[in-house]
Amino acid sequence: MRAMVLEKAGEALRLSERPDPVPAAHQLLIEVCACAVCRTDLHVVDGDLTHPKLPLVPGHEIVGRVLEVGRSVQAGFKVGQRVGVPWLGFTCGTCSYCTSGQENLCDTAQFTGYQIDGGFATHTVADARYCFAIPDRYDDVHAAPLLCAGLIGYRALKAAGEARSVGIYGFGAAAHIVAQICRHQGRAIYAFTRDGDTAAQDFARDLGCTWAGSSLAAAPVPLDAALVFAPVGELVPLGLRALRKGGTLVLGGIHMSTIPAMPYDILWGERVVRSIANLTRKDGVDFMKLAAEVPLEIHSEPFALDEANIALDRLRAGQLTGAAVLVPSQTRKDVDPGQLAKRVGPA
Ligand SMILES: [Zn+2]
Ligand SMILES: [Zn+2]
Repeated sequence: MRAMVLEKAGEALRLSERPDPVPAAHQLLIEVCACAVCRTDLHVVDGDLTHPKLPLVPGHEIVGRVLEVGRSVQAGFKVGQRVGVPWLGFTCGTCSYCTSGQENLCDTAQFTGYQIDGGFATHTVADARYCFAIPDRYDDVHAAPLLCAGLIGYRALKAAGEARSVGIYGFGAAAHIVAQICRHQGRAIYAFTRDGDTAAQDFARDLGCTWAGSSLAAAPVPLDAALVFAPVGELVPLGLRALRKGGTLVLGGIHMSTIPAMPYDILWGERVVRSIANLTRKDGVDFMKLAAEVPLEIHSEPFALDEANIALDRLRAGQLTGAAVLVPSQTRKDVDPGQLAKRVGPA
C-alpha cells in the first residue's frame, strides 16, 4: 500500500510504501476510495493534539470498499460493500460512559488517524463496530466529508436543541453541511466568517443562510443558539454576546486557542456554553439516515494522495470553502503551487 505518513509533529507528511495491513478478527480490510481532510488532521500534524501514535497515517473521514471481513465480525458486512470510517475507532465497551450510550467520552477510546492508522492511504483496516453504511445518493468524494464534518456538525446541531435561529462561526466543511440541514428543518442560519472573507459569506448565502457577515459584527437578531467550528477562543465571548437569554453556545472543535477572560454578564441569563466531543455510533446511524433523506450538496475538492500536504496547507490558510478530499486513485495534478493556491471555492 501507499500512505502519507506523519513521522514527527510539525513536519510534512511523507509518501511511503508499506506492506498491506492484515485485518484482525474484528476488523475490515478496506480499499480507500476517498478520505476527506479535517481540521483535526491539521491539529494532529501541527502538534496541537499531543498524543498521536507515531509514525501515523492521518485521516478519519474514510470512504472505501471492503476487501476482506475479519472472521469474528458480527454485523453483516460483505466483500465489495461501501463503508465509511469515522474518527471514533475504538471504545472499551465496559466503562460507565460506554454502557450509557456516551461512548464518545470513553476514557480509553482510540481515534482513527490519531491512535489508529487512518485513511491518507490506499488501504486501511478498521474495527467493524465503528464502520457505517453510506447513503447511495453520494459518490465517494462527496460522501467522505459526511464522516466528520457532517457527523460532528450534526452532533453540534443536536446540542442546540430546538433553536430556530442558529449562528455558525467558521463557515467551512462542517458549517456548509449543517446549514443545509437547518434549511431543511426550517431553521434560520446566521453565518459568521473571518472579517472580510466575502467568498465564504457569498458561499453561506448561496446555501440559504439568512444572513452572512463578519464574526466581529453584531448578530442582526438575538440568536437561540450558535455553533463554533473555528478553533478560535476569541469567538466564545463574541458568540455569547450574540445569544438571547437561555441560548446555547456549542463548541464543535477538538482544539481551540485560549478563551479570553470575559465579563460574567454575557453568560448571565442562563446562557450555556458546551463542547461536543467525538461521536457516538448512534450519531453515525442517525446522521447517515438523515443524509439519505436530505439531498445535501457536498462541496468537495479532490486532491491526489500525494497532494495531502497541499490540501493541509490550503486548510491551514483558510483557502478552502468546502472540504478537501484525498483520492488515492487520482494522480498528482501537473500544476505549480501558485496555481493550486488559486483553486479556491466549491467544486
Ligand atoms: Zn469505555
Ligand atoms: Zn474530523
